[in-house]
Amino acid sequence: MKIFNTLSRRKEEFVPLTPGKVKMYVCGPTVYNYIHIGNARPMIVFDTVRRYFEYKGYDVNFVSNFTDVDDKIINRAIQEGVDASVISERFIAECRKDMADLNVKPATTHPRATQEIEGMIQMIRTLIDTGHAYVAKDGTVYFRTASFPEYGKLSHKNLEELQSGFRQIKVTGEEDKEAPADFVLWKPKKEGEPFWESPWCDGRPGWHIECSVMAKRYLGDEIDIHAGGEDLIFPHHENEIAQSECCNGKPFARYWMHNGFLNIDNKKMSKSLNNFFTVREIGEKYDLQVLRFFMLSAHYRSPLNFSAELMEASRNGLERIRTAAGRLEELEEKARGAASEAEGAESRVQPADAASMTRGEQENAAAADGLVEKFEAAMDDDFNTADAVSAVFELVKLSNSTADENSSPVYLSFLRETLERLCGVLGIITRTKQETLDEKIEEMIRRRQQARKEKNFALADQIRKELSEMGIILEDTREGVKWKRA
Ligand code: AMP
Ligand code: ZN
Repeated sequence: MKIFNTLSRRKEEFVPLTPGKVKMYVCGPTVYNYIHIGNARPMIVFDTVRRYFEYKGYDVNFVSNFTDVDDKIINRAIQEGVDASVISERFIAECRKDMADLNVKPATTHPRATQEIEGMIQMIRTLIDTGHAYVAKDGTVYFRTASFPEYGKLSHKNLEELQSGFRQIKVTGEEDKEAPADFVLWKPKKEGEPFWESPWCDGRPGWHIECSVMAKRYLGDEIDIHAGGEDLIFPHHENEIAQSECCNGKPFARYWMHNGFLNIDNKKMSKSLNNFFTVREIGEKYDLQVLRFFMLSAHYRSPLNFSAELMEASRNGLERIRTAAGRLEELEEKARGAASEAEGAESRVQPADAASMTRGEQENAAAADGLVEKFEAAMDDDFNTADAVSAVFELVKLSNSTADENSSPVYLSFLRETLERLCGVLGIITRTKQETLDEKIEEMIRRRQQARKEKNFALADQIRKELSEMGIILEDTREGVKWKRA
């Protein structure tokens, strides 16, 4: 397996620290609002990376934090007149709901910054004791970048240049910094803000220290993969490396992975441009599986453009896969029914052995295996989900052109299981036939309501008749139209 490592700017062979295990840390969201669709990209991408490692048999320890103390959270809390924890609790719950709808698995551990303050104080103390950090007059603790000659190795920036670049930016209250690129580890409290006691002053941690501490606590001093959006390369991840390596005396993460940015209609997503979408808003228009499928249609390192047309194309693509899966399920059910009838047995499940396939089916099954190999080769090449999706479409094509009423149940279930397995790696749910049917019914009811609204009673009656032929009974209730099976 090859992974593009931001540290070396090359694709490198993946060698885990411990055979069979992957220790992975992904920087999570700051919880002051519903997550936006840009935030969903790293969630979906790195959940897919995790799923692929699991598919390959690795035991993955996946840690992703919630940043629950931050200026934006505090500002919103002040606006609403509540405690900052009320805001962060609310949006952690909402984020978890969005993750579930995107079929992003919960992390092995989801630590929160406010619950890790003790560890942060500990790490800051070690950095001060070893000369890597210093305390300013007002109690602010800064990391001493000059003490870490490798500073800049991830973002490929030169420390000298960084220092002179930062010199231009004067920040009030930071006059005590020894060098311009030094960054905050701990800062004094301000009126009305949450704070914790520390040996230096009552205050709160800087942002970067939380990830170094959580990665150490839940994964160890050295980890396999550290990931996040590309905007985190500098300064966040650069600073994490400085803190962790100076504290632990070991290289921190072996592979650094960064996803490209999501833009909207080729523009940066921003509230001021009025092109800012939360996952929740998109979920009102689309099944969120469509958003997931859309995100995986591009390589994770490429920039990705979001537009209504591209989402429409993803909806159609996903539908094609689901229709194929539903059709296989239906055919398989019929074929099994026919087989058990022929044997006079009561719907006995056939053992899935290749011998029951015809010669032609065996050849097609071998072609399907070839597509699985193609899928794996794409994923092995730095998680090229775009090519992996193409392999899935080829499998759909093979299935549509070779599976029919005459196929053996073994061949049909082989195709269905193969398709489901690959979709499972991508986190794409292929619905069961029942769900497909329910959705079709609901769609027909929506069309009937629309027809009635437009006073097209002929069409409305026609749809009711079609539904009744499908064994669906409609009831007009005060809450709207309900349906049941006859
Ligand atoms: P934040 O809450 O801003 O710290 O962001 C959480 C995660 O979302 C980080 O990994 C960011 O890099 C990532 N992220 C934020 N905006 C975008 C975007 N437009 N496209 C892709 N990733 C993003
Ligand atoms: Zn982080």
